[in-house]
Amino acid sequence: MTSPQQTYETSTETTDERLKVAARCRECGGIYSAWLFADDTVQPIGRKDGCRCGASAFEAISK
Ligand SMILES: [Zn+2]
Repeated sequence: MTSPQQTYETSTETTDERLKVAARCRECGGIYSAWLFADDTVQPIGRKDGCRCGASAFEAISK
């Protein structure tokens, strides 16, 4: 089996625009792996709806 789309996730188009960080929910303190974007947006990885507590405000705690 070959995978012609193998290079898809290593595209350099936006790689430098985001940083993987640990982020903390501002409401409950839950810790998630998240992307920190160049505009300081913090987006928990794999959690489009935000924290399990329902909040969507996070702060990056490591870089
Ligand atoms: Zn929370």
